[in-house]
Amino acid sequence: MLLDVRIICSCVNHVDGTVYVPHPNYLADNEESSLSEHWEDVWCSSCGKDYKVYIAKTFNNLKCHLNDTSVGFDYGTPYENEESALSQYNLDEYLEVFSNQVNSAEKIINLDVSEDIEFNLLVMIHGHVVAAIEGYLASVCMKKIIESDDLMRKLLESDPDLGSRTLTLKSLYQEKDKVEETITKYLDKLIFHKIDKVKPLYKSVFDIDFGNVRWLFLAVKLRHDCVHRGGYKTNGKKVEMDRDCTIALIKNARALIEKIEYLLKEVD
Ligand SMILES: [Zn+2]
Repeated sequence: MLLDVRIICSCVNHVDGTVYVPHPNYLADNEESSLSEHWEDVWCSSCGKDYKVYIAKTFNNLKCHLNDTSVGFDYGTPYENEESALSQYNLDEYLEVFSNQVNSAEKIINLDVSEDIEFNLLVMIHGHVVAAIEGYLASVCMKKIIESDDLMRKLLESDPDLGSRTLTLKSLYQEKDKVEETITKYLDKLIFHKIDKVKPLYKSVFDIDFGNVRWLFLAVKLRHDCVHRGGYKTNGKKVEMDRDCTIALIKNARALIEKIEYLLKEVD
Protein backbone atom coordinates (compact mmCIF):
# COMPACT_ATOMS: atom_id res chain seq x y z
CA MET A 1 0.00 0.00 0.00
CA LEU A 2 0.98 3.59 -0.52
CA LEU A 3 0.28 6.73 1.44
CA ASP A 4 0.24 10.34 0.27
CA VAL A 5 1.88 12.80 2.63
CA ARG A 6 2.08 16.57 2.67
CA ILE A 7 4.73 18.61 4.47
CA ILE A 8 4.53 22.38 4.87
CA CYS A 9 8.27 23.00 4.68
CA SER A 10 9.96 25.71 6.76
CA CYS A 11 10.56 27.48 3.43
CA VAL A 12 6.71 27.54 3.13
CA ASN A 13 6.79 25.27 0.08
CA HIS A 14 4.15 22.52 0.15
CA VAL A 15 5.89 19.21 -0.34
CA ASP A 16 3.67 16.40 -1.63
CA GLY A 17 5.10 12.94 -1.47
CA THR A 18 4.13 9.29 -1.56
CA VAL A 19 5.54 6.79 0.88
CA TYR A 20 5.39 3.04 1.18
CA VAL A 21 3.25 1.41 3.83
CA PRO A 22 4.89 -1.82 5.01
CA HIS A 23 2.82 -4.94 5.54
CA PRO A 24 2.40 -6.12 9.13
CA ASN A 25 4.24 -9.28 10.14
CA TYR A 26 1.62 -11.87 9.19
CA LEU A 27 3.39 -14.50 11.29
CA ALA A 28 2.85 -12.52 14.50
CA ASP A 29 0.36 -13.92 16.97
CA ASN A 30 -0.78 -10.60 18.37
CA GLU A 31 -1.31 -6.98 17.39
CA GLU A 32 1.81 -5.69 19.15
CA SER A 33 4.26 -8.13 17.59
CA SER A 34 2.78 -7.58 14.11
CA LEU A 35 4.51 -4.16 14.02
CA SER A 36 6.45 -3.36 10.84
CA GLU A 37 8.32 -0.08 10.61
CA HIS A 38 9.56 1.87 7.65
CA TRP A 39 11.35 5.19 7.20
CA GLU A 40 11.35 7.09 3.98
CA ASP A 41 13.03 10.28 2.83
CA VAL A 42 10.94 13.07 1.41
CA TRP A 43 12.77 16.03 -0.03
CA CYS A 44 11.72 19.63 -0.53
CA SER A 45 12.49 20.56 -4.12
CA SER A 46 12.39 24.25 -3.25
CA CYS A 47 14.97 24.52 -0.44
CA GLY A 48 16.55 21.08 -0.55
CA LYS A 49 15.63 20.16 3.01
CA ASP A 50 15.43 16.44 3.75
CA TYR A 51 12.65 15.00 5.85
CA LYS A 52 12.19 11.50 7.19
CA VAL A 53 8.71 10.03 7.31
CA TYR A 54 8.13 7.20 9.75
CA ILE A 55 5.41 4.67 8.97
CA ALA A 56 4.39 1.92 11.38
CA LYS A 57 1.88 -0.77 10.50
CA THR A 58 0.30 -3.40 12.69
CA PHE A 59 -2.63 -5.69 11.82
CA ASN A 60 -5.19 -3.03 12.73
CA ASN A 61 -3.33 0.25 12.95
CA LEU A 62 -1.28 2.65 10.92
CA LYS A 63 0.93 5.34 12.41
CA CYS A 64 2.77 7.96 10.47
CA HIS A 65 4.85 10.90 11.62
CA LEU A 66 7.63 13.22 10.58
CA ASN A 67 11.09 13.58 12.17
CA ASP A 68 10.61 17.35 12.28
CA THR A 69 7.64 18.28 14.45
CA SER A 70 8.13 22.02 13.93
CA VAL A 71 6.61 21.95 10.44
CA GLY A 72 3.10 21.14 9.25
CA PHE A 73 2.51 17.52 8.36
CA ASP A 74 -0.53 15.63 7.17
CA TYR A 75 -1.26 12.34 5.46
CA GLY A 76 -4.18 10.70 3.72
CA THR A 77 -5.64 7.22 3.75
CA PRO A 78 -3.46 4.35 2.56
CA TYR A 79 -4.46 3.01 -0.80
CA GLU A 80 -3.73 -0.06 -2.81
CA ASN A 81 -2.58 0.44 -6.36
CA GLU A 82 -5.15 -0.72 -8.82
CA GLU A 83 -3.03 -3.60 -9.96
CA SER A 84 -2.05 -6.33 -7.52
CA ALA A 85 0.74 -5.48 -5.15
CA LEU A 86 3.63 -7.06 -7.02
CA SER A 87 2.54 -6.55 -10.61
CA GLN A 88 2.56 -2.77 -10.31
CA TYR A 89 6.31 -2.87 -10.87
CA ASN A 90 8.05 -3.67 -14.10
CA LEU A 91 8.31 -7.40 -14.19
CA ASP A 92 11.95 -8.38 -14.21
CA GLU A 93 12.55 -12.00 -15.00
CA TYR A 94 13.59 -12.84 -11.44
CA LEU A 95 10.44 -11.22 -10.10
CA GLU A 96 8.36 -13.33 -12.42
CA VAL A 97 10.15 -16.43 -11.17
CA PHE A 98 9.51 -15.48 -7.55
CA SER A 99 5.84 -14.72 -8.20
CA ASN A 100 5.35 -18.03 -9.94
CA GLN A 101 7.00 -19.89 -7.06
CA VAL A 102 4.90 -18.32 -4.31
CA ASN A 103 1.68 -18.30 -6.33
CA SER A 104 2.14 -22.01 -7.00
CA ALA A 105 2.86 -22.64 -3.33
CA GLU A 106 -0.33 -20.83 -2.44
CA LYS A 107 -2.38 -22.89 -4.87
CA ILE A 108 -0.89 -26.16 -3.69
CA ILE A 109 -1.49 -25.32 -0.05
CA ASN A 110 -5.18 -24.87 -0.79
CA LEU A 111 -5.52 -28.35 -2.23
CA ASP A 112 -7.58 -30.72 -0.20
CA VAL A 113 -5.32 -33.43 1.18
CA SER A 114 -5.65 -35.92 4.01
CA GLU A 115 -4.10 -35.14 7.37
CA ASP A 116 -1.16 -37.53 7.00
CA ILE A 117 -0.22 -35.99 3.69
CA GLU A 118 -0.66 -32.42 4.89
CA PHE A 119 2.43 -32.46 7.15
CA ASN A 120 4.65 -33.50 4.24
CA LEU A 121 3.04 -30.97 1.96
CA LEU A 122 3.67 -28.12 4.39
CA VAL A 123 7.27 -29.25 4.89
CA MET A 124 7.86 -29.14 1.13
CA ILE A 125 6.13 -25.80 0.71
CA HIS A 126 8.09 -24.24 3.56
CA GLY A 127 11.37 -25.19 1.91
CA HIS A 128 10.11 -23.94 -1.43
CA VAL A 129 9.03 -20.52 -0.15
CA VAL A 130 12.33 -19.88 1.65
CA ALA A 131 14.16 -20.98 -1.51
CA ALA A 132 12.04 -18.54 -3.54
CA ILE A 133 13.10 -15.67 -1.25
CA GLU A 134 16.72 -16.81 -1.43
CA GLY A 135 16.60 -17.03 -5.21
CA TYR A 136 15.09 -13.57 -5.53
CA LEU A 137 17.67 -11.99 -3.19
CA ALA A 138 20.53 -13.59 -5.13
CA SER A 139 19.17 -12.62 -8.57
CA VAL A 140 18.70 -8.98 -7.61
CA CYS A 141 22.31 -8.76 -6.43
CA MET A 142 23.65 -10.54 -9.49
CA LYS A 143 21.74 -8.34 -11.87
CA LYS A 144 21.84 -4.94 -10.24
CA ILE A 145 25.35 -4.88 -8.74
CA ILE A 146 27.19 -6.07 -11.84
CA GLU A 147 25.33 -3.52 -13.97
CA SER A 148 26.47 -0.58 -11.88
CA ASP A 149 29.98 0.70 -11.12
CA ASP A 150 28.57 2.62 -8.18
CA LEU A 151 26.98 -0.48 -6.60
CA MET A 152 30.09 -2.60 -7.25
CA ARG A 153 32.11 0.02 -5.45
CA LYS A 154 29.67 0.07 -2.52
CA LEU A 155 29.91 -3.71 -2.25
CA LEU A 156 33.73 -3.68 -2.33
CA GLU A 157 33.91 -0.93 0.25
CA SER A 158 31.39 -2.40 2.65
CA ASP A 159 31.70 -6.17 2.42
CA PRO A 160 33.98 -7.46 5.18
CA ASP A 161 35.12 -10.54 3.21
CA LEU A 162 35.50 -8.99 -0.20
CA GLY A 163 36.83 -5.60 0.89
CA SER A 164 39.57 -6.97 3.13
CA ARG A 165 41.33 -8.88 0.36
CA THR A 166 44.82 -7.50 -0.19
CA LEU A 167 46.56 -7.02 -3.47
CA THR A 168 50.03 -5.95 -4.49
CA LEU A 169 50.73 -2.80 -6.46
CA LYS A 170 51.97 -4.76 -9.46
CA SER A 171 48.63 -6.60 -9.67
CA LEU A 172 46.61 -3.40 -9.34
CA TYR A 173 45.71 -2.93 -13.01
CA GLN A 174 45.12 -6.60 -13.59
CA GLU A 175 42.76 -6.73 -10.59
CA LYS A 176 41.02 -3.57 -11.72
CA ASP A 177 40.23 -5.14 -15.08
CA LYS A 178 38.67 -8.21 -13.58
CA VAL A 179 36.80 -6.62 -10.69
CA GLU A 180 33.48 -7.56 -12.32
CA GLU A 181 34.55 -11.17 -12.58
CA THR A 182 35.73 -11.19 -8.96
CA ILE A 183 32.40 -9.82 -7.75
CA THR A 184 30.39 -12.25 -9.92
CA LYS A 185 32.33 -15.19 -8.48
CA TYR A 186 31.87 -13.88 -4.97
CA LEU A 187 28.10 -13.40 -5.34
CA ASP A 188 27.81 -16.78 -7.03
CA LYS A 189 29.26 -18.46 -3.95
CA LEU A 190 27.37 -16.37 -1.41
CA ILE A 191 24.61 -18.27 0.36
CA PHE A 192 21.63 -15.98 0.18
CA HIS A 193 19.64 -17.59 2.96
CA LYS A 194 22.32 -16.45 5.40
CA ILE A 195 20.19 -13.50 6.38
CA ASP A 196 22.73 -12.19 8.92
CA LYS A 197 25.04 -11.64 5.95
CA VAL A 198 22.52 -10.64 3.27
CA LYS A 199 20.54 -8.12 5.34
CA PRO A 200 23.58 -5.82 5.94
CA LEU A 201 24.66 -6.33 2.33
CA TYR A 202 21.33 -4.96 1.06
CA LYS A 203 21.57 -2.09 3.52
CA SER A 204 25.09 -1.03 2.54
CA VAL A 205 24.82 -1.62 -1.21
CA PHE A 206 21.20 -0.65 -2.00
CA ASP A 207 20.39 1.29 1.19
CA ILE A 208 17.45 -1.08 1.66
CA ASP A 209 16.56 -1.95 5.21
CA PHE A 210 14.64 -5.23 5.48
CA GLY A 211 13.34 -4.05 8.86
CA ASN A 212 12.65 -6.59 11.57
CA VAL A 213 12.88 -9.96 9.83
CA ARG A 214 13.14 -12.26 12.81
CA TRP A 215 10.44 -14.32 11.09
CA LEU A 216 12.83 -14.90 8.20
CA PHE A 217 15.68 -16.02 10.47
CA LEU A 218 13.26 -18.50 12.07
CA ALA A 219 11.95 -19.63 8.69
CA VAL A 220 15.51 -20.31 7.46
CA LYS A 221 16.23 -22.27 10.64
CA LEU A 222 13.11 -24.37 10.13
CA ARG A 223 14.02 -24.79 6.45
CA HIS A 224 17.06 -26.87 7.44
CA ASP A 225 14.84 -29.43 9.14
CA CYS A 226 12.52 -29.34 6.13
CA VAL A 227 15.01 -29.78 3.32
CA HIS A 228 17.65 -31.90 5.05
CA ARG A 229 15.48 -34.23 7.13
CA GLY A 230 12.05 -33.98 5.56
CA GLY A 231 10.50 -32.19 8.51
CA TYR A 232 12.38 -33.77 11.41
CA LYS A 233 14.77 -32.18 13.87
CA THR A 234 18.21 -33.63 14.63
CA ASN A 235 16.71 -35.21 17.76
CA GLY A 236 14.24 -37.11 15.59
CA LYS A 237 11.20 -35.10 16.60
CA LYS A 238 8.77 -33.75 14.06
CA VAL A 239 8.89 -29.99 13.43
CA GLU A 240 5.70 -28.09 14.07
CA MET A 241 3.96 -27.25 10.84
CA ASP A 242 0.74 -25.38 10.58
CA ARG A 243 -1.24 -24.46 7.48
CA ASP A 244 -2.02 -20.93 8.69
CA CYS A 245 1.64 -20.28 9.53
CA THR A 246 2.73 -21.44 6.09
CA ILE A 247 0.16 -19.15 4.48
CA ALA A 248 1.45 -16.29 6.67
CA LEU A 249 5.00 -17.12 5.59
CA ILE A 250 3.96 -16.75 1.94
CA LYS A 251 2.36 -13.37 2.74
CA ASN A 252 5.50 -12.21 4.56
CA ALA A 253 7.67 -13.35 1.65
CA ARG A 254 5.55 -11.37 -0.81
CA ALA A 255 5.56 -8.33 1.50
CA LEU A 256 9.36 -8.36 1.81
CA ILE A 257 9.91 -8.63 -1.92
CA GLU A 258 7.28 -5.96 -2.61
CA LYS A 259 9.13 -3.61 -0.27
CA ILE A 260 12.50 -4.37 -1.88
CA GLU A 261 11.01 -3.77 -5.34
CA TYR A 262 9.57 -0.46 -4.21
CA LEU A 263 12.90 0.68 -2.74
CA LEU A 264 14.92 -0.58 -5.71
CA LYS A 265 13.10 1.91 -7.91
CA GLU A 266 14.99 4.61 -6.02
CA VAL A 267 18.32 2.91 -6.77
CA ASP A 268 17.65 2.76 -10.53
ZN1 LIG B 1 11.58 23.69 1.64
